[in-house]
Amino acid sequence: MKARTALLAILAALAPAAAPVAAPRAVASGGFDVVVLGARGGIQDGNLSSFLIRAHGTEGYLSCDAGTTVAGLIAADRRGDFADIRQPAGSSQTRIGYILTEQVKGYLISHAHLDHVAGLIIASPEDGKKPIYALPSVHEKFAGSYFNHDAWANFADTGAEPRLGKYHFEDMVPGRAVPATGTAMSVTAFPLAHGPVESTAFLLQHGPDALLCFGDTGADRIEHSDRLHQVWGAVADKVRRHELKAIVIEASFPNAQPETQLFGHLTPRLLLEELHDLAAQAGGKDALKGLPVVVEHIKYSFKAGPLPQTVIRRELEAGNDLGVRFIIPEQGDRYRF
Ligand SMILES: [Zn+2]
Ligand SMILES: [Zn+2]
Repeated sequence: MKARTALLAILAALAPAAAPVAAPRAVASGGFDVVVLGARGGIQDGNLSSFLIRAHGTEGYLSCDAGTTVAGLIAADRRGDFADIRQPAGSSQTRIGYILTEQVKGYLISHAHLDHVAGLIIASPEDGKKPIYALPSVHEKFAGSYFNHDAWANFADTGAEPRLGKYHFEDMVPGRAVPATGTAMSVTAFPLAHGPVESTAFLLQHGPDALLCFGDTGADRIEHSDRLHQVWGAVADKVRRHELKAIVIEASFPNAQPETQLFGHLTPRLLLEELHDLAAQAGGKDALKGLPVVVEHIKYSFKAGPLPQTVIRRELEAGNDLGVRFIIPEQGDRYRF
């Protein structure tokens, strides 16, 4: 490894200084590990939006939303997703307990809808001390609706007395990166329009590498908003330089859902519209070629007929003139991007 580094340094020194730099892929790039704890949107409890993300080769996961937590950890552990995690000898916890309390270093909560927080709330009595990163509006709803000693005990360090102080509410300032304690990553929050509710996209960064994890969001055209346009603008240069490794984003309904009944969500058509905006800002139609886009929060349906994920995959691929690599995740999947 050392010899290779030295060789690269020599080659770099020999390279002509004025050589044009054409979208270099980061040599030291490690990318990210993503473990799917929950892949769908309501109404299927036990498999709701939750993605563990860490910088590859480092310790310390962040949970991007937490609709399903312990059920997801059990499913993922059964699949061998945590094979590299060594529990210290003599630990008094089960393996799942150790992973949750010691390896999940914090939560990124996009908004306070139940399908994004139920896993965290239900696990809270046995969870470890850690921060919840969110916009102030999300923390307010969390404190008012859940951690209020009526719905649930207040495990946070603000809000209703007595405060049990397990979770520190870390208020995010839109667009400003903060280091995520206990991980090798920094996180930046961007507000989203999710019907009348403020939701959030999180940009996770490790060195030059970045990954975008979205909470629920409507399309700019439907929401009469420019929130997604702003997010795309913020990452356009990273796309150009191939530093954006993946996008995790929703498509809740198939295209047949009327645009008046989206309740602040995306369909494949709208997601493709939005990705075209990103491509345009990042240099054109080929800018997203090969970019992994993980399509989550597909709503479980009681309607007979083909599964929504089958329909949504077909609709995404039919409109995929960008060459994006669409992935429809399942609980317990693990990816390296
Ligand atoms: Zn929602
Ligand atoms: Zn949701």
